[in-house]
This record gives sequence, C-alpha cells and structure tokens, in this order.
Amino acid sequence: MAWCENCDRPVDGEVCTICGEEVTVTEREPIPWTWRFFIVATIIYLIWRIYQLVSWLSH
Ligand SMILES: [Zn+2]
Repeated sequence: MAWCENCDRPVDGEVCTICGEEVTVTEREPIPWTWRFFIVATIIYLIWRIYQLVSWLSH
C-alpha cells in the first residue's frame, strides 16, 4: 500500500488515481534493537516489581 502526499490518501498501485502522481511504496522499518532492548528491560523490571510486591504481601 502506497500513500499519496498530494491527496493525503492511500493509493492502491504505483500511480495515484486522483492526481496521477507517481507514489513510492513505503516499507515498514523493523523495530530497532535498542527499542527491543528497552521493551525487554521494562518487562524484566515489571516482573521484578511484581515479584517484590507478591513476596511483600505474603509476609
Ligand atoms: Zn494523489
């Protein structure tokens, strides 16, 4: 799926049917590894906090 910036609408194909402009197909970039690391670190931190809370409640 491409996107026409002139009409601000999605375009099916390589040429916009409204204005006739050639549009470039935008490829989705993969998630950078720094983001994955950040997400994993956040999950580990949350699990640690939940573990602490559960151990605190059980005492
Ligand atoms: Zn267009």
